[in-house]
Amino acid sequence: MPDGIEGKAPAFALGSVAKLVGALRAGSTWPVTMGLACCAIEMMAAGTSRFDLSRFGMEVFRASPRQADLMLVSGRVSHKMAPVVRRVYDQMADPKWVISMGACACTGGVFNNYAVVQGCDHIVPVDIYLPGCPPRPEMLIHAILELHQQIKAEPLGPDRAKVARAVEEAALAAIAPGETRSMNEVNA
Ligand code: SF4
Repeated sequence: MPDGIEGKAPAFALGSVAKLVGALRAGSTWPVTMGLACCAIEMMAAGTSRFDLSRFGMEVFRASPRQADLMLVSGRVSHKMAPVVRRVYDQMADPKWVISMGACACTGGVFNNYAVVQGCDHIVPVDIYLPGCPPRPEMLIHAILELHQQIKAEPLGPDRAKVARAVEEAALAAIAPGETRSMNEVNA
C-alpha cells in the first residue's frame, strides 16, 4: 500500500481526495524570499497593491524556506549563487514548486558566459518557464495561476516525488543552451 493520504483513503474516494488536496495545495502556496537580479523588482511589484498578489494569499514572501513551498527564480543565477539556490530549494517544505522567471533564469538570457548558469533547470526542477526580459508582474501572476492549475491536476504522494525526480534527471541530462555536440555524440 502506498505511503501518504492515498494509502489511507478507500479506493472509491481517491479521486475526490486528490481533487480536494490539489485545491487546498493550490490555494495555499507561499513563495520564499529570494531575489537574484533585475527580474526580482518585477516580482516585488507583483506583491504591491497595484498588482495585488494578496488576492491569492501570497503577498507575504516567507523569510524561511521551511515556511515556503514555491520558489520564484527571479533573474540570472551565477555559478557562485547556484549552490545557495539549491540549498534553499532543498530546505523548502515538500511538496514544492519552482517558477523560472525571466529569460536569464530560463536559459542564461543574454549572459552566455562562464559566470552564469545557462538555465536554472540545471540546479532545480522547474514547473513553469516564464519568458521575458523582464516579465511584467501580470505575466508572473499568469504563471502563478497556470501553476495553480498544474498543482490541482497533480497526482498525490509518492507519485509527485517520482515525477519531480524524473524532471530533475531529464534536466540534468539536457545539454545547456550554447553547448554543441558532434553528430557522433548525438547518434551514440
Ligand atoms: S531576464 Fe532581463 S530583467 Fe530578468 S534578470 Fe535577466 S536581464 Fe534582468
